[in-house]
Amino acid sequence: KLGNETAKAELGRAAWKLFHTTFARFPDKPTAEESAALNAYIHLFQRLYPCGECAGHFRTILDKFPPQVTSRSAAAAWGCHVHNEVNKSLKKELFDCSNIGDFYDCGCADGEAPEGA
Ligand code: FAD
Repeated sequence: KLGNETAKAELGRAAWKLFHTTFARFPDKPTAEESAALNAYIHLFQRLYPCGECAGHFRTILDKFPPQVTSRSAAAAWGCHVHNEVNKSLKKELFDCSNIGDFYDCGCADGEAPEGA
C-alpha cells in the first residue's frame, strides 16, 4: 500500500489515463481473441494494481460490473462507468460519459494501432 496520498493520486491519474486511452484505441469490431485479451488485461490490471486498498475496492466493482469487451464503444462506456463508481466512492464529481468519445486521444498519427499492438 502506498502510504502517501499525493503518490496514490498521481498513480491513479496515470493509470486512468492509460486505461481510458487503451479503450479509445480498442477495435470497433474486435476478434474473439482481442476481446479475450482486453478482458484478461482488465482483470490483471486489478490484480496487480500497486495500491492494495484501491485494488481491493476495484475488485468489488469488477465483480458487480464485468468488463464489456465486445467493441470500442462498449469498452469505453464501461471504463467511464467504473471510473465513475470509483469517483462516487471517493465523493468526486462524476464524468459525463457521453463525452468520452473525443476525450482520450493518444496523439498517434495513424488511424489504427499497429498490428499486434
Ligand atoms: P482521477 O479520478 O484520477 O481522474 C483523472 C481525470 O480523468 C479527471 O481529471 C477527468 O478528466 C477524467 N475522468 C474523471 N472521471 C472519469 C470517468 N468516469 N471516465 C473517464 N474519464 C474520467 N484512490 C483512493 O484514494 N482510494 C481508492 O480506493 C482508489 N481506487 C482506485 C482504483 C483504481 C482502479 C484506480 C485507477 C485509481 C484508484 N484511486 C483510488 C485513485 C483515484 O481514482 C484518483 O485517480 C485519484 O484520487 C486522483 O483523482 P483526480 O481527482 O485527480 O482524478
